[in-house]
Amino acid sequence: MAITVIVIAILLVLLIYGLMDPATAPFPKCPFYTFTGLKCPGCGSQRAVHQLLHLNIAQAFRYNACLVAFIPIMLFLIAAQFLRGRYPRLHAAAYNPILSWTIVAVILLWFLIRNIFGW
Ligand SMILES: [Zn+2]
Repeated sequence: MAITVIVIAILLVLLIYGLMDPATAPFPKCPFYTFTGLKCPGCGSQRAVHQLLHLNIAQAFRYNACLVAFIPIMLFLIAAQFLRGRYPRLHAAAYNPILSWTIVAVILLWFLIRNIFGW
């Protein structure tokens, strides 16, 4: 039941982002950017998702490269979670602390790089 609600919610969000372009429609702005003038790691994600849904990968990459680069990793983590019962070693490998901390480090590095170089 819970997974059904989650899937329906995700599909609704994807439908909204597919139909409306956050670059031109009145979507909520990032509060971190609004108050600090610095881009957070998620800035540009709404516009990137819209571009991804329209298969404009290059434009999505320009809006948020980290999000686009992490999609295969996110799909791997989701698959590992769903296949946990059948492949417990895969799940253990996917959800180990080293990978988790590496992802956190990459996101923090992305936060620094995009604000230093203006990406
Ligand atoms: Zn932001």
